This record gives sequence, structure tokens and C-alpha cells, in this order.
Amino acid sequence: MPRWTNWSGTVSIDVPVAAPATVSELSRVVADAAERGQRVKPIGAGHSFTSIGATDGLQLRLDRMAGIVQADRNTGLVTVLAGTKLHALNETLWDVGLSMTNLGDIDVQTISGAISTGTHGTGLKFGGIATQVRALDLVLADGSPLHCSADENPEVFAAARVGLGALGVIATVTLQCEPAYALAAAEAPASLDEVLDELDENVVGNDHFEFYWFPHTRRVLTKRNNRVLPGTELRPVGRFRHWLDDDLLANRVFDRVNRITTRRPGLIPRANALAARLLSPRDFVDRSHRVFASVRTVRFREMEYAVPRAVVPQVLAEIETYLARSGEQVGFPVEVRFAAADDIWLSTANGRETGYLAVHQYHRREHESYFRAVEDIAKDYGGRPHWGKLHYRDAAALREVYPQFDEFVALRDKLDPQRVFGNEYLTRVLGG
Ligand SMILES: Cc1cc2nc3c(=O)[nH]c(=O)nc-3n(C[C@H](O)[C@H](O)[C@H](O)COP(=O)(O)OP(=O)(O)OC[C@H]3O[C@@H](n4cnc5c(N)ncnc54)[C@H](O)[C@@H]3O)c2cc1C
Repeated sequence: MPRWTNWSGTVSIDVPVAAPATVSELSRVVADAAERGQRVKPIGAGHSFTSIGATDGLQLRLDRMAGIVQADRNTGLVTVLAGTKLHALNETLWDVGLSMTNLGDIDVQTISGAISTGTHGTGLKFGGIATQVRALDLVLADGSPLHCSADENPEVFAAARVGLGALGVIATVTLQCEPAYALAAAEAPASLDEVLDELDENVVGNDHFEFYWFPHTRRVLTKRNNRVLPGTELRPVGRFRHWLDDDLLANRVFDRVNRITTRRPGLIPRANALAARLLSPRDFVDRSHRVFASVRTVRFREMEYAVPRAVVPQVLAEIETYLARSGEQVGFPVEVRFAAADDIWLSTANGRETGYLAVHQYHRREHESYFRAVEDIAKDYGGRPHWGKLHYRDAAALREVYPQFDEFVALRDKLDPQRVFGNEYLTRVLGG
């Protein structure tokens, strides 16, 4: 049996694999497995940190079900096969004159994996990637097809866009795209106080605003990405600067520093202060998807909490107090992002403008005490954990923070009563 390991190395399983090439093959594979009483789990690019994609049954790899089925430049509606990777999608969309409205900060995930866990980027006017979905074709637990959209099976549509892989296998995704656009990126160091003093102006006044706070310092890196008028000349990052900032410093030197500070954590505050001092401003204009996405080669573990936007400063202050009090040394910045409210049942931004705080730890270091402490803080603010990133909450706790949690569970009971798509993670977060 092939061994499968996720990107961060938190999950490793020996698992039989099926790789259907068409929707009808996919239906047959699911129906046959269900008949045998075997559980089934589609997997995307394996970039979730949680065991959400693990299975003790059959793993479905959908690499052969990739690519654009249909793209209408006039309406912006694009239907893609489930296994399509975001980077391939983005480049093809650009060639036909379209772009995604918003993206996260990497582009190696599959479209289905990304939406199923509520993957998001930043920008108060925009929702996560799932909010760009207009229709889904699912294969249900008995192998039968089901189409859902705002008009057809609207309940399933409200749930399955961030469906945690619990309701059915996504076969195709129809996305609302928009005319291709470029972004002007402005990256600059700042002080944490400055950023927090002007947080509302920054979040409201930029299309996509985020910042990275360097723990044990009062310094941050800010990123402001704003749409430019059509026809604006592109000014991508020069090749040398790209290599220096995005490859050498962001990945290779950073990995070296992490290896050293894993052995000597006491050096972390000085390393963070130095990294923050070395930051220099950078401005460029590029295709939107190239601005959104970066390359991440340093392995890490991550937890991310969604909280009401207004409480971001308090949550950050509590994390800072915890770090000072506990003596915990953290070499990775805390990433802070924002998103519009949406109406998807298990979206982390359901019903409220959201601030996201993501904490990271190098993969060779222990992460649990830090993550649990941050989770305890976020819990008090109605925090909701990212479904694909590490957390310690269970169904009882999650029911408290999602108004439509019980509707989701009831729909799961209806669509998958035998738990063909079940696994341990889903039992923990949704109940048996
Ligand atoms: C370096 C790194 C950077 C990241 N950056 C961001 C970010 O900026 N923003 C953010 O929100 N998240 C981010 N993430 C988290 C990541 O986007 C999510 O975990 C996402 O789910 C990964 O997509 P994937 O294709 O790897 O899915 P997988 O991890 O392979 O699968 C995730 C879930 O989707 C289900 N699934 C996959 N395909 C289907 C299908 N066809 N039908 C039904 N269910 C399916 C799987 O069963 C599983 O439950 C990042 C992760 C990493 C490692």
C-alpha cells in the first residue's frame, strides 16, 4: 500500500488509492466502496495540517480530474474539475482574460481542497475562496450525482461550499471570476503600535491588507495590495530581488535560522529583532494571482483562529502577554488577515466581519503548548479554528460558535448516514 504524508508531516498513513479519470468513474468507485462497507476520502494537495483528509478506507486522488471544463469570459463563470490546482487554474484564467477575486498566500492547493476547509486570503470587501463558488456537482455516498447552487438544492449549496469533505465528493466547481486584473503591492516594515492605531483605515482603505507581527519585538511587516486600472503597466519584482527576498531570505536563510534556534531557542528574540530590522520596503505591480501567492519551502505547523474583526488588537495583546509570561520562544511571525462576512454554514467568516490570526511553529519544534494557549485566548472571543489547520476543539465546542452547526450535522445525516466519508477528524469536529 502506498504511504501518504501531508505537507507538514503531521499525518502519515498507508492507504489504498483510486484515481478515477472521469465523473462516471468517480461515481462507480464511490458506489463500489460504499457497497463493500469501505470508507472513502478524496484528497487534494495534502496541504491541510489537520487529519481532515486522512482515511482508514480508500483514498481518492483526483489529479486525473483536473482542468477547465468551461469558461465564459462574458459572465465570468468558469467550471473546473475537482482536482484542478490553483496555480494551473490562475494561469489559464489569465490567458482567457479572467482572474479569481481573492486568493490565499499559496497556490498549490486544489480548488476542492481549498474550498472544503474554508481557505481564504485577506481583504474586508472579499470573502474566502468558497464565496466565489456558484455551483457544485457532487457525488454522494451511494455514487449518485447531485447538482447544487443558490437555486437548486440551496441547503446543500449553503453547506457544501465549506463541506469539510463530509457531504460528498466534489466533481466540478463553478466559480464566479472577474475580468483579469493586476495588483499594486506595497510591502513595508512598521511598528505594531502604528499599525494597530490605524488598523481600521488600513483594513477599510486597502483592497487587501495584512500584517505579520514578529513575536518578542514590536515590529511588523505590512502588505497592502490594491487593484490598479486596466492597462496599467506591470512592474514585477526583479529576478534578483525575487530570489533574494522570496527564496533566499524567506525560505533558505529562514530555514537555517530555524535550525539554529531549534537548538538554541534563547536566540529567537534577537533573531526576530534582526529579521524585523532587515526588512526593507518593496513595491511592484503584477498579475493578481502572482501577487497573492508566495512559495513556502520551510516546513512548519500552523493554527489559525477567526475572530470578530474588532477584537484583533485585544487578541494580539493577549498573545503577547502570554509569550512574555510563559517564556515561550516563537521564531515565526503571527499573520493577521481580514475578510467580509458570508453566509456559508461552516465558513469561519459566517455572519461576521472577520479578523484571522495565524500562529506558526517550525516543524522540528514542539507547537502544542503555544497553540493551546492561543486557542484558549481566541475561545474567549468567539474564535473559530480554520478547518485545515491544527486545533483542539470538538463538536460540542464548535456548535457554540456556528449558528447553523446543527443544520450541517442534520444534512450530513441525510446525505451520508453510513459515514462513507467519515474519518476520526470529522467524528471529533462534527460528532459521530
Ligand atoms: C504552506 C501553506 C500555506 C497555506 N496558506 C493558506 C492561506 O493563505 N489561507 C488559508 O485559508 N489556508 C491556507 N493553508 C491551508 C490550506 O489552504 C488548506 O488546508 C487546504 O484545504 C489545502 O488544500 P488541499 O488541496 O491541499 O486539500 P487537502 O488538505 O488535500 O484536503 C482538505 C480537505 O478537502 C477535502 N477534499 C479534497 N478534495 C475534495 C473533493 N473533490 N471533494 C470533497 N472534498 C474534498 C479532503 O477530503 C479534506 O477533507 C495553507 C497551508 C499550507 C501548508
